[in-house]
Amino acid sequence: MSFSSLGLAPSLLDAIAAIGYQTPTPVQAAAVPAALAGRDVLGAAQTGSGKTAAFALPMLQALLARQGTRRGLHGLVLVPTRELAAQVGEAIRALVQHLPSTIKVTIAFGGVSINPQMMALRGGTDILVATPGRLLDLVEHNAIKLDHTSTLVLDEADKLLDMGFADEIARILALLPAKRQNLFFSATFPPAVQALATGLLRDPVRVDV
Ligand code: AMP
Repeated sequence: MSFSSLGLAPSLLDAIAAIGYQTPTPVQAAAVPAALAGRDVLGAAQTGSGKTAAFALPMLQALLARQGTRRGLHGLVLVPTRELAAQVGEAIRALVQHLPSTIKVTIAFGGVSINPQMMALRGGTDILVATPGRLLDLVEHNAIKLDHTSTLVLDEADKLLDMGFADEIARILALLPAKRQNLFFSATFPPAVQALATGLLRDPVRVDV
């Protein structure tokens, strides 16, 4: 299996080579073609599996195809912790840095002042990586609108629920357009995670690695 067989655009293949990935991980090999085809994805994947690129590459491909026209937030990535927000956001930026288009990636998490994050969102963003509570604060401050979100990613869904974000997630889902792509990743699938996935996903491609 090679990255060039996954259906990725040449500029993304160049970016992948530039950051030094040679072969797709199993989750990438399974999830990328499904997501590029517009399918929802239900991924059973641990940290270290390469799941970040598995959901980031299809979002970036959609943004590259958009050819400069800004239509508001494209991709919303919900993560449970500030550490993961920073890590995921920086991993996406590392790819973006090697792309010919300007794609803006913004990171937002709670526990710090909201003002710099509001400033960072001025002029919009293409991809927002956020923890749920801070995302809702930003929506309440009119710093971000979610009504054009094309792709929702839930990263570490089990941890999102463990940390008590079920209500916040429900409120966020109510703000998203009904027609969107959902990419759902979790290391474990206890009943509450399964129920969230079932309520969220439409005919998902299952990726078990
Ligand atoms: P993740 O599970 O997304 O947090 O990725 C875990 C680590 O694997 C990160 O340091 C990535 O940069 C790295 N990684 C992801 N995909 C690949 C790949 N296809 N080849 C080599 N390293 C990768």
